[in-house]
Amino acid sequence: MLLVASANGQVGMEAGWAVLSRGGTALDAVEVATRAVEDNLEDHTVGTGGYPNLLGVVELDASLMDGATRRAGAVGAVQGVRHPISLARAVMERLPHVLVVGEGASRLAAELGLETAELLTPEAAAAWRAGVEGRIDAGHPHHRLLRLVADLVRDPEHVAGTVNVLAQDGRGHLASAVSTSGWAWKYPGRLGDSPLIGAGNYCDDRAGAAACTGWGELAIRGATARTVVAGLADGLAPRDALARGIAELAGLDVPGGEPMMQAIAIDRAGGHAAVSTQPGSDYVVWADGWDGYRVLPRAVVPLPG
Ligand code: ASP
Repeated sequence: MLLVASANGQVGMEAGWAVLSRGGTALDAVEVATRAVEDNLEDHTVGTGGYPNLLGVVELDASLMDGATRRAGAVGAVQGVRHPISLARAVMERLPHVLVVGEGASRLAAELGLETAELLTPEAAAAWRAGVEGRIDAGHPHHRLLRLVADLVRDPEHVAGTVNVLAQDGRGHLASAVSTSGWAWKYPGRLGDSPLIGAGNYCDDRAGAAACTGWGELAIRGATARTVVAGLADGLAPRDALARGIAELAGLDVPGGEPMMQAIAIDRAGGHAAVSTQPGSDYVVWADGWDGYRVLPRAVVPLPG
């Protein structure tokens, strides 16, 4: 058994490991761990407490994938739902679809009786007011939004975030989950890589699983999670498969800002690794025989020039 997450997944590791250690599925473990992060008000990149979009509205994205069946579910730009990861699971299990966004996603949550929540906390609202509100011309917001987004994406403190959780259960099955509030101050309706299977999330029992955080537009264009899992299928070790995923981003420009990518991976043999294009970040791992999770440094793999 194995449970691996981005560093902000620490708040969900106990709950996720409890599922695995009582014989539960990888899919249940990644969902439970992710729900705990979605409830962490201190985390301004995921769930309740996440920073809002340019208009001050919190829009959440989430996805999960089952390695045994390669079934997947995802939701994007969801408002007012406490646990978007569970809504993503409902898309996978209850609808003949993979991705449902916006009002349709809220409708599904209501039909299923999923918990609603006020996602915008006073702290996140205050950060939005300080960073954005005064810069929107209420009389002509549609004229100003484009330019504002162009300026605001240069704000590194408010771009990075998202939780990734990968698991292997006692039967050897794999699952992956991603949940995010996306970029703070994003253009309304913007989806990043997190709800896009193949971009921010991919899982296949035959090879392994991978998930991304960082500049979502890069992971979309590089199909990063799928590229990493394809590397695992080719027999690469997780660290090398991740490096291949980063290498695939060579030559991709980003408007404004500093491009940044992070990814984690596990393979079917219980191997794990994490990389970041920038130094100084960690990931968390809980493996069989350990009495708790460990915080480990990510390998640094710079973006190719
Ligand atoms: N990848 C996320 C997004 O683009 C943000 C992040 O992970 O920092 O929405």
